[in-house]
Amino acid sequence: MNLRTWQALYNSLIALGIVMLVVAILINERHVVIMIVLGIGGLVIAIAGFILQLIFWKCPHCDKHLPTTGTFGMIRCPYCGNDLFK
Ligand SMILES: [Zn+2]
Repeated sequence: MNLRTWQALYNSLIALGIVMLVVAILINERHVVIMIVLGIGGLVIAIAGFILQLIFWKCPHCDKHLPTTGTFGMIRCPYCGNDLFK
């Protein structure tokens, strides 16, 4: 998989995990089992997304790990200047 695919995958996992956590918080207290499953599932999915980001968010040219914040729209490596998605 290329960098853009990994980025889409871990961003999707993090977003899905956060949505599941919010739904778990907002769900009616009568559905405790669903609340627990959504809460724990959402936490595990979001953590998996963060772990994938830590592993695969690195420059394909110089192999340095890229910053995890302020990267929206980033197309060039801040370390070597090469195009990240080629
Ligand atoms: Zn680089």
